[in-house]
Amino acid sequence: MRCDRLWTNARLATMRADLPGLGVVEVGAIGMRDGRIAFAGAAADAPDAADVIDCGGRWITPGLIDAHTHLVFAGDRIAEFELRQKGASYEEIARAGGGIASTVAATRAASEAALVQSALPRLDALIAEGVTTIEIKSGYGLTLTDEAKMLRAARALGDARPVTVRTTFLGAHALPGEFVGDADGYIALLCEQILPAIAAEGLADAVDAFCENIGFTPAQTERMFAAAAARGLPVKLHAEQLSNQHGAALAARGVPIALATDCNPGTSPLTSLLLTMNMGAVLFGLTTDECLLGVTRHAAQALGLSGSIGTIEAGKRCDLAIWDIERPSDLVGRMGLNPLHQRIWMGQTT
Ligand SMILES: [Zn+2]
Repeated sequence: MRCDRLWTNARLATMRADLPGLGVVEVGAIGMRDGRIAFAGAAADAPDAADVIDCGGRWITPGLIDAHTHLVFAGDRIAEFELRQKGASYEEIARAGGGIASTVAATRAASEAALVQSALPRLDALIAEGVTTIEIKSGYGLTLTDEAKMLRAARALGDARPVTVRTTFLGAHALPGEFVGDADGYIALLCEQILPAIAAEGLADAVDAFCENIGFTPAQTERMFAAAAARGLPVKLHAEQLSNQHGAALAARGVPIALATDCNPGTSPLTSLLLTMNMGAVLFGLTTDECLLGVTRHAAQALGLSGSIGTIEAGKRCDLAIWDIERPSDLVGRMGLNPLHQRIWMGQTT
């Protein structure tokens, strides 16, 4: 076997499920052919390659995956940030017409091109930290025209930058003003007209809903999920963002946890997956291994992409991040430092 390119003299954190911890290979090499990993293992066993890159003992992880974002939106909500700092609750701001409603108004008024332009700096910040796959949700349009516009903008971001974009239809994010008092009517519109049109155009890879006391009821959410299932689309759920009935904690006992920025203009204007890992460790008590797996193997699982990304092993896509660090936990324990040396997307240095 001869590879197109070989990265050698590297320390690998493969994240493989069949190896303990982070699946570390101390003196490792990765061979790439046609954009896929053809070899990953001990450097001594590496195949020949047309192009050999000495990594000088640097660490290589899978390209990072931000599995949950609302990256496409117009306007900003920093004024609300100031209000919250003075004691106003998210719910009070939402009920006073702020919150999601203000982003919906700005997003409806924006063109697809403007949405792409405003999202690019946020996407670039994530890419600069080694992100190679990102999920982007709709949910600030809430009409067929505006939801489709958001999803097209998300797809366009994937064309504009060397990154894989997975889109999620989040029409059931908030009740639009024109449906106040008629949430069932809006859900019917979503299920009978908007989702079928979005699915027919191939704009969504998954469907999400906001089940919360200012969002939709479990019964409405279930209706949305049935409509998604009828079109073969996998589902996700926003739950317990505001209230806490411990359901998520119960569901999470023993399941792998993915970490993501949840980048959005209101509650999480965050464009750093490295800082997200630090927050996972410091604020939620995750181990550094859990944080690193949460933005690689487990994030791939969250997107239903375990077969193609998230670990370094033969057959997977050659999405890699090469780091100037002494140990993988440097990526979690530090704040404000970006030690990315190089980022590889589909076998190409980007
Ligand atoms: Zn979210």
